[in-house]
Amino acid sequence: MIRGQCLCGAVQYQVHREIEMSILCFCQDCRQAQGSVFAWNSPIPKQNFQLLQGADFLKEYFHTHQKARVFCMNCASPIYSYRLDLPDILRLRLGIVIEGDIPAPIEFAYTENQPHFLCVAAE
Ligand SMILES: [Zn+2]
Ligand SMILES: [Zn+2]
Repeated sequence: MIRGQCLCGAVQYQVHREIEMSILCFCQDCRQAQGSVFAWNSPIPKQNFQLLQGADFLKEYFHTHQKARVFCMNCASPIYSYRLDLPDILRLRLGIVIEGDIPAPIEFAYTENQPHFLCVAAE
């Protein structure tokens, strides 16, 4: 099980299953959305996600018309993303997980954008 919450604490969730895999994404959209050099994500079945509080704080932003990036409208923490054509899969943003174990990333996307001072993923 993992628990996550946004920076201000308004949005809190838990996932009852173990997180099986995680991904680092260096794409430009993720970098700008997170304000960081990569996003650390895990795709999970939506049915495993339980919002504990904060439904009223969730805001969706569509930078591309298929993909919603969902964040806390109070503190701007990214919570998850999903695609309209894959509505049953949520891609959690793992930086906001505060409890539970997350496996090391096994997939690395858009590593050509990886800055040279980082060496987490081979190109
Ligand atoms: Zn918040
Ligand atoms: Zn990305």
